[in-house]
Amino acid sequence: MDYIPYARQSIDEEDISAVVDVLRSDWLTQGPKIVEFEKVLADYCGAKYAVAVSSGTAALHIACLSAGLTKGKTGWTTPLTFAATANSMLYCGAEIDFVDIDPATLNISVPALKDKLSKRHIKPNVVIPVHFAGLSCDMEEIYGLSKEYKFSIIEDACHAIGGIYKGLKVGSCYYSDMTVFSFHPAKNMTTGEGGMVMTNDEELYQKLTRYRTHGITRDPKFMINQPDGSWYYEQTELGMNYRITDIQAALGISQLKRLDQFNAKRNELVNRYDKAFSELPIILPPKQEDIFSPFHLYVIRLRLDKIKKTRKEVFDFMKNAGIGVNVHYIPVHLHPYYQRLGFKQGEWAESERYYESAITLPLFPLLTYSDQDRVIAALCKILN
Ligand SMILES: *Cc1c(COP(=O)(O)O)cnc(C)c1O
Repeated sequence: MDYIPYARQSIDEEDISAVVDVLRSDWLTQGPKIVEFEKVLADYCGAKYAVAVSSGTAALHIACLSAGLTKGKTGWTTPLTFAATANSMLYCGAEIDFVDIDPATLNISVPALKDKLSKRHIKPNVVIPVHFAGLSCDMEEIYGLSKEYKFSIIEDACHAIGGIYKGLKVGSCYYSDMTVFSFHPAKNMTTGEGGMVMTNDEELYQKLTRYRTHGITRDPKFMINQPDGSWYYEQTELGMNYRITDIQAALGISQLKRLDQFNAKRNELVNRYDKAFSELPIILPPKQEDIFSPFHLYVIRLRLDKIKKTRKEVFDFMKNAGIGVNVHYIPVHLHPYYQRLGFKQGEWAESERYYESAITLPLFPLLTYSDQDRVIAALCKILN
């Protein structure tokens, strides 16, 4: 029996010819496709600016740098995310801390955030809410707190491209300073590797473009000295080479045309799962009325009190049935590296409790009904 992966990209002939066209053109990188990709995604999200980079992690890193995170500053996020969210703040030399999740949404708990803000004498300079599995965080509330406590907001929307929060596209940055996307093949659209930072702030936009390319500027407006001549450029801060290629950008432009279709298909498959699982002893993925989630992941939580099996037994049964289950995520603070930094088990109890019971099931636009039925049958078999 064929193995069903938990995630898979959707590539069609149009994607392939868009990439091949770039290979025949003059520009493999730093060319017009990158500018076009930024423009179409900014338009799609309703944001003013977009900066394309080599990965979602690179996007998080330059967003943190542009928000002013350095040694002596502090950033907060939730433990229920991919390690890159927290790592990006550490790259800047900043201190980090975590805020627990709300088990009802699996996103940052606004009451826990409020509580921590009011009690801690070290306030965050940056907060990174993660739209877990695609469901937007309560951005209006978090934005309100950012005004009161003066922190910047970077949305980690690596799961949420195409999502809609209270009528606003995720990435519009209406309630944040910047929003970050990833185009890894497991995500809702892909460029192979790639990422993007969205913003409405021109100053942030200028910083992002400099950090992407070595901290170099060619615009006299941003130079410290008078240009020596028309060849002149200046490195004004320590940046990286985080550029994406035109080859990747062309794939991104082509994929974006089908993003809404991909996300509609994901939602259709989610509804099929939900219906099939309504009687099982599991907690279904959260949904919210005023939010359209593009469902990057379909995560169930086992009601371990009601089933006579461990999560590992259920997981292994599914794996042995040829089904690519996964676990998103091991809470960041439990990784040995973070334990060495002093983060203790037990402090973010909801994230840990979630982790004990969570399993990610296969979900991607090309998942066929018959393959999905195999997943459903296997889960029903092990849980009944
Ligand atoms: C995928 C992901 C990232 C990192 O993106 P890459 O493109 O793989 O570097 C960061 N945060 C979250 C929540 C992600 O899912």
